[in-house]
Amino acid sequence: SFGIDRTNSMGINLANDDQLRALAEQVNAAARSDWRAAPLVPGAKTIGPDIAVTNPADRRQTVGQWQAADSATVEKALQNAVAAHDAWNATPAASRAAILEHAADLLEQRMPQYLALCTREAGKSIPDGVAEVREAVDFLRYYAAQARKQFAIEPLPGPTGESNTLQLSGRGVFVCISPWNFPLAIFAGQIAAALAAGNSVIAKPAEQTNLIGYYAVKLLHEAGIPEAVLQFLPGDGATVGAALTKDPRIAGVAFTGSTDTARAINRALAARDAAIGVLIAETGGQNALIADSSSLPEQVVKDAIASAFTSAGQRCSAARVLFVQDDIADKVTHMLAGAMAELKVGDPGLLSTDVGPVIDEDALKMLVDHAARMDREATKIAEVALDADAGNGSFFAPRAYALKSLDQLHKEVFGPVLHVLRWKADQLDAVIDQINATGYGLTLGIHSRIDETIEKISARVKVGNCYVNRNQIGAVVGVQPFGGQNLSGTGPKAGGPHYLPRFATEKTITINT
Ligand code: GLU
Repeated sequence: SFGIDRTNSMGINLANDDQLRALAEQVNAAARSDWRAAPLVPGAKTIGPDIAVTNPADRRQTVGQWQAADSATVEKALQNAVAAHDAWNATPAASRAAILEHAADLLEQRMPQYLALCTREAGKSIPDGVAEVREAVDFLRYYAAQARKQFAIEPLPGPTGESNTLQLSGRGVFVCISPWNFPLAIFAGQIAAALAAGNSVIAKPAEQTNLIGYYAVKLLHEAGIPEAVLQFLPGDGATVGAALTKDPRIAGVAFTGSTDTARAINRALAARDAAIGVLIAETGGQNALIADSSSLPEQVVKDAIASAFTSAGQRCSAARVLFVQDDIADKVTHMLAGAMAELKVGDPGLLSTDVGPVIDEDALKMLVDHAARMDREATKIAEVALDADAGNGSFFAPRAYALKSLDQLHKEVFGPVLHVLRWKADQLDAVIDQINATGYGLTLGIHSRIDETIEKISARVKVGNCYVNRNQIGAVVGVQPFGGQNLSGTGPKAGGPHYLPRFATEKTITINT
């Protein structure tokens, strides 16, 4: 069985206004303008210039400062990590797990502070921030529980007079490179897995979310992870990421981000004159939602909106293309435009906000360029109105476009844009072929009330996560193990039972008794 004895974290009831308002007040009280992040590398003397962090929702507002690691700090971190590995790896898995569980408890207790960081540094809405903290807590507890189970010495059958055991153990130094779209959950998830498995860790956060990463690492240290076992190395990809991934002293990399960067990391690992490195990568998607004529238009629209526009569409799992069967297409399109008109884009700290800002000006520019091309080449179904005060932040109005062909999308559009294509009853196989031909394989939504159709699509589409008659985002740790195939990632799935072993070596011991 894949299940382990464990429960997911409790959420808050978003339908309970009193509870939500109290939380929003706590978050506002926890918000600061003097958060600071710097490398956490014992013995390093980094005195870099301060770099200001501003709020994506309002660039006039400074949230804090951070300092980047220089090359000497990267080198010191590698030396520390190598020196720290053996003792950490020799610490019983149950003791490592207990520290991670303590960190989970601390994070749960301090949810408002981490929520404040998520809204102000990453532009997350309050519900997204709550989900983010909960997911981080779940990852910590899940990998702790898995380590207890999977790192116990496993006796194997053997002939009389011989004892055989199999044991997992850490590989060495793991580099964790995480994305800005889940600056706490994925950041903590990668680290928790690598630590639970007995590796020492160098964590490099996305350049947009150094503050959240810094305070997460501080919390893990407070919980009991030794400072040389988990080091924090903020900096740009060229100086920090590239130096780490080409270094022969590292055993592997856990990475979430673009497919191109995953390829570059893979090449860097392979080019080293060293043991063959492990790459665990979660990358992009070109995720589709297929709705057939038996589906309920109201539900299709509700789930398409949640899947395409939650987190301003900045999820790898987000729906980018809605394939709707022509019998219900007019109705769905009409309802989609009506429902989008109700979306509120604005300050992520306000409870009334549905869609917050995108992460930065580069992301905004990419979306504006895409929308300009779509305005020329596709038919606009809807564009949400922006508030007058949106000009101070990186806000992009969610849009939906009717396409003529999937070829009109050249690459993943990482933001709140939904594309709609129609299909006829005899074209279901062609739709599936097109989805597979993108080469990506992360999430797929299916809306249908015909069992044969659901079975056929889910069997034929090469994706990691299939969601039927619901939205296709927000995979829950241990419940919906998450991750894709082909261009979408190497597997194994985060929050699933096969994740930890990839961070480990296996040793068989045979004793002639
Ligand atoms: N696990 C997230 C979800 O299910 C997506 C992760 C990502 O965007 O990288 O929505």
